[in-house]
Amino acid sequence: MDAEAIVIGSGFGGAVAALRLGEAGVRTLLLERGRRWEIKDPTANDTFATFRRPDRRAEWMNEVSKTPGYEGIPIGKYAGVLEVLPADDLTLLAGAGVGGGSLVYGGILIQPPGDQFRRVFPPEVDYDEMDRVYYPRVRSVVHTVPIPDDVLNSRYYAGLRVLLDQALAAGFKEVPTTTGTGDGVCRFPMAVDWDIVRGEIAGTKVPSVIAAEFWFGNNSGAKQTLDRDYIRRAEETGAVEVRPLHLVREVADGPAGGYRVTVDRIDETGDRLGTEELTCRYLFLAAGTLGTTRLLMKARAAGTVRGLPDGLGEGFGNDGDVFLIRTTIPGLTNPHLGGPGAVAVMNYDNPVRPCVMMRAPFPRFAQDYPKLDAIGTFVFTLTAHRGRLVYDPAADTVRVEYRPDSDEPARRLAERLNGAGGGTLSSVASRTTGHQLGGACMGVVCDDRGRVRGRPGLYVVDGALIPGSTTCVNPALTIAAIAERCLDDILARDISRRPEAV
Ligand SMILES: Cc1cc2nc3c(=O)[nH]c(=O)nc-3n(C[C@H](O)[C@H](O)[C@H](O)COP(=O)(O)OP(=O)(O)OC[C@H]3O[C@@H](n4cnc5c(N)ncnc54)[C@H](O)[C@@H]3O)c2cc1C
Repeated sequence: MDAEAIVIGSGFGGAVAALRLGEAGVRTLLLERGRRWEIKDPTANDTFATFRRPDRRAEWMNEVSKTPGYEGIPIGKYAGVLEVLPADDLTLLAGAGVGGGSLVYGGILIQPPGDQFRRVFPPEVDYDEMDRVYYPRVRSVVHTVPIPDDVLNSRYYAGLRVLLDQALAAGFKEVPTTTGTGDGVCRFPMAVDWDIVRGEIAGTKVPSVIAAEFWFGNNSGAKQTLDRDYIRRAEETGAVEVRPLHLVREVADGPAGGYRVTVDRIDETGDRLGTEELTCRYLFLAAGTLGTTRLLMKARAAGTVRGLPDGLGEGFGNDGDVFLIRTTIPGLTNPHLGGPGAVAVMNYDNPVRPCVMMRAPFPRFAQDYPKLDAIGTFVFTLTAHRGRLVYDPAADTVRVEYRPDSDEPARRLAERLNGAGGGTLSSVASRTTGHQLGGACMGVVCDDRGRVRGRPGLYVVDGALIPGSTTCVNPALTIAAIAERCLDDILARDISRRPEAV
C-alpha cells in the first residue's frame, strides 16, 4: 500500500480528515488538484488576483472568465482558486487549491439553531452533541471572532451599520447567538483576523477585506484559511503528506483489498506531467459535493468500485441560497466596501420559511450603483426542496437537475426591511451558488458517520454527505463539524481495530 489512508480534496471535509488521521498516526496522503497559495507580502496584491484586476490566478482552468459579473474577460488557463461551473441553468462555484473552499469563502462560519438542524439531519446526528463537542472543536482550530466596534464603525462597513439599524427598526432584537428560536440580529464570530483588518484600515496591510475582495482570495492574510490551520497542523503530525496539483481521475477497488486511486500530476496550466496509481486501505472522499459525487458515480458507471449503494446523486440542494439587492436605501451604504457577513439578520419567524440575511459587498457595485445607496445580500432559506446530480459518462461530468425555490421567503424579509428603514427591492436571483450540498447523503448512500454503505474503508466526509441543506445558514462550519464527528467514530471503530483484523 502507498498509504494507509488517502484523502481526496483539502477543503472543509478533507482538512479535518487529514488532521485527525495524522494525529492518530495513520500514514495519510492528502491529494489536492489545486496549488498551494502562500501570502509572501501582505502589503501588496501579490498572491491572489483581485476583482478589480482579474487574471489567470482567479479561476480554475478557464481561458476566459466565467465568474458572474466578469464573464468574457480573457484571463488565461491556470490552476486559479475559483472553479466556475455552468451546470444546466445554474452556475456553481467551488474552491480549488490547498484549503479548498476556504481560499474563496467569506470567512463566515455560522452555527445553525437546533430546531432547524433537526428538521434536516437524521435523528442519529444529535444536535446537542454537535453544539457541545463538534462545533466548538472546529472553532478551537479555526479562530473565530465577531467584528469589533472600531472596524464596524469605519467607513468600510457603512452598509453593515445601515443593515443592522434597519433590522433593529424592523423589530429584530440584538441577540448573542445564531442558535436561538425567534427572529433576531447577531454579530456572530467570523474566521477573520480583525487585527489584520485594522492594519488594512491603517495602511500597513494591502486593502483586501475592506475592499470587498474574497472570491479570488485575500491578499492581506486576514481571512483564516485551512492551509494555515487544519492542514498545517496535519502536516506537523509527521504522518500526513500533502500533494498539490494532483488531480484524481478515478477510484477503484484495490488489487488486494482496499482502494486504488488513479491520479494525474499536473502543472499550473493543467498539462499532465504523469499518471500514478496509488493504493490505500482507507479512502476518504472530500472533493466537494460535485467532485466526490462525480468520482463515485463514475466508479459505479465503470464498475471500478463494486457494490456501491443506490441513491447516488440524490439529495442535491443549494442550501436555499438567494442573492438579493436592495437600492434607494436612505444614507450612504458603500456597497463596494467591507467584508461579507459579520452580522446575521435571522428571520426564523418568516411567514413563508425561516431565512437568514447577510450583507454581500462586491467591488463592481461602485459602478452598478453609483449613488452608493444599495445593499447586496446573501439570503439562505430553510428548504426541503431537493434535486439530483446525474452522471454523463461521455463528458465525465455531472449534470444538475434542480430548480431553486427560495425567492419568496427572501423577498418577504427584504420587504420588511424596506418597510421599516426604506429601500426598494432591485433584484432576486438564485441561479448562482457556492453552497451545493448532497449527492452521497448520510442516511441514503452513507451512514451518519460518512461510511459508504456496504463498502468497508470507503468514506465521504465533505459537502456531498450533507442532505442538501445546513438549514438556513452557510455550510462550511457544519461540514467541518460533521467531518469531525465522522472521524471520531471512524478512528475509534474502524481504524483502531485494524491491528486485530490483520
Ligand atoms: C465564492 C464562495 C464563497 C463562499 N463563502 C462561504 C462562507 O463564507 N461561509 C461558508 O460557510 N461557506 C461558504 N462557501 C461555501 C463553502 O466554501 C463550501 O460549502 C465548502 O468549501 C465545501 O467544503 P467541502 O469540503 O465539501 O469541499 P471544498 O471546500 O470545495 O473542497 C474540495 C476540494 O477538493 C478538491 N478537488 C476536487 N476534485 C478533485 C479531484 N478530482 N482531485 C483532487 N482534488 C480535487 C478541490 O480543489 C477542493 O480543494 C463559499 C463558496 C464559494 C464558492
